Amino acid sequence: MHEFGIADAILAKTLEISAANGGASVERVQVLVGGLRQLVPEMLEFAFNALAAETAARGAALDVELAPVRVVCRNCEHAFEPDDLFWTCPVCGTCGANAVTGDELILKSVTLADVAPETASARPEPSGEKGR
Ligand SMILES: [Zn+2]
Repeated sequence: MHEFGIADAILAKTLEISAANGGASVERVQVLVGGLRQLVPEMLEFAFNALAAETAARGAALDVELAPVRVVCRNCEHAFEPDDLFWTCPVCGTCGANAVTGDELILKSVTLADVAPETASARPEPSGEKGR
């Protein structure tokens, strides 16, 4: 399933940020995903929550924003956002434009719980996990 690979990439980056902040737990993650990736936001949230279950991002809210696909006509170079599957140019009617955006996967923001690093050692969670 496509969404799990993307969720995994988002989670890896999120946990990096968490680790750089003393392993603070993650409250919210905002991502921008290009429309070309053809994913279902609900599926991505589901996959993210499943993968995050054992991590500092457990229970974090995932906000998925879909970025529009933008293409450029091969004939007249008009840039537009296609609203059909054929990417028909609204100016000259040519099919099959070139995609310029829509393949993004951007981690827009990660909100961490307001945990002071000093109190982290008092928590029962093991903190000795080593990186690769
Ligand atoms: Zn055109």
